[in-house]
Amino acid sequence: MGYDLVIVANRLPVDRVEQPDGTSTWRPSPGGLVSAIEPVMRADDGVWMGWPGGTEQDLEPFEADGLSLHPMSMTAEEIEGHYEGFSNATLWPLYHDLVAKPEFHREWWDTYVSVNQRFADEAAELANEDALVWVQDYQLQLVPQMLRELRPDLRIGFYLHIPFPPAELFQQLPWRRQLLEGLLGADLVGFQLPGGAGNFVRLVRQRVGHKTHRDLVYLPDGRTVRAAAFPISIDAAGFEELARSEEVTSRAKEIRAALGDPSKIFLGVDRLDYTKGIYARLRAYAELLEDGALDVEDAVFVQVAVPSREHVEEYQRLRDEIDRLVGRINGDLGRIGRPAISYLHSSYPREEMAALYRAADVMVVTPYRDGMNLVAKEYVACRYDDAGALVLSEFAGAADELRQAWLVNPYDINGMKAALLEAYRADGKDLTKRMKAMRKTVSHNDVRAWADHFMSELSHVRDKHGKAV
Ligand code: UDP
Repeated sequence: MGYDLVIVANRLPVDRVEQPDGTSTWRPSPGGLVSAIEPVMRADDGVWMGWPGGTEQDLEPFEADGLSLHPMSMTAEEIEGHYEGFSNATLWPLYHDLVAKPEFHREWWDTYVSVNQRFADEAAELANEDALVWVQDYQLQLVPQMLRELRPDLRIGFYLHIPFPPAELFQQLPWRRQLLEGLLGADLVGFQLPGGAGNFVRLVRQRVGHKTHRDLVYLPDGRTVRAAAFPISIDAAGFEELARSEEVTSRAKEIRAALGDPSKIFLGVDRLDYTKGIYARLRAYAELLEDGALDVEDAVFVQVAVPSREHVEEYQRLRDEIDRLVGRINGDLGRIGRPAISYLHSSYPREEMAALYRAADVMVVTPYRDGMNLVAKEYVACRYDDAGALVLSEFAGAADELRQAWLVNPYDINGMKAALLEAYRADGKDLTKRMKAMRKTVSHNDVRAWADHFMSELSHVRDKHGKAV
């Protein structure tokens, strides 16, 4: 028996936890995508395919918390070529404005193709006749076309969680045509922002030579592909509920006290990734201390840097650079019991995140490029008190919606300094006005609305004969 809905993602929505007795169990991994897709999966008899992490082979399908999960094993070679290599050292920097230099290796590409083929083969086996298949993200861009060849009956959706670059950058890819054709196997290709969808349609017209009109691509076989923006969001109500809970309220107080009850707390929360602009942000903050505009007796910057992609060289280099910078700033500017920066190289559960958001007076989100940035939206969702300031990069997808934040260009250190100070000094009335408006936006477009919107557009896609299915 197959499924009516198949989610194809690089990762399963669970993490393996080792037990003291040597056995292991699965724990749902925290993340917006699971909470968004879970209700749809339950309603539609769905299955989620993906890599569970690690190199264990031949894992059996299993259920976790009532969800059907279908693990896809990866060998060490596949992890290196597909995940760490082509996905994270070629596509990731290329799709994020070349913040780092992408590496092009033919062996990585070959592995990317073979892993995508394996995912497509498996999805073809799992899907019922006329099922919906929803493929997620940049690691699996060839799956839509591979799957369509095997199963023309399926309705196939694809969603890209990261930015889709302009033609000038995408053109560098030796395999640009294959990737575009891979995506064109889908009926509906979703992007975070209209700009990404526009870039894609333009490239398809210029590089592949298909006719296009607005958000539609007309294929020679009569099929139509739609490319549109579906800005992703968070479980806003869930975060607010958590933020209001007694545990989180008292934890937020504890955090403030542990930091020495400063008058203002600045907060950054990012994966330790070069796209996030952590280095420049901390420099801007340190200069404000050096200038005397801020004082370590009154303010502290808490930076959470979640370990990420530690096998990829660029990430190791970044970690060293930030470690050195934080050490230098604290050495030069800190006082006993008053560090300038409280730096945490670790990852925290949702509850702790909510407490940090509640404790922070100024949330600083300054990526050079980011598909959306959920942290910015989570901060807003947790500020049911309508207090707190958000300093947000213009180059995060979230800036399209959160217009009342202090918007900054993360390459402009002086501009960031000015915005940090303004946010620090803002009066209560100004903060309330801005936060109220942003909260309205986030609660209106939450992650359920996002998933429902995509799924309903996908269900209404027309088949190649032009009839509604
Ligand atoms: N996050 C977390 N624990 C941490 C730091 C971050 O659970 O210690 C979560 C955070 O709440 C958010 C996600 O990780 O939901 C990060 O998403 P975002 O879009 O900001 O950045 P990404 O890491 O996807 O580039």
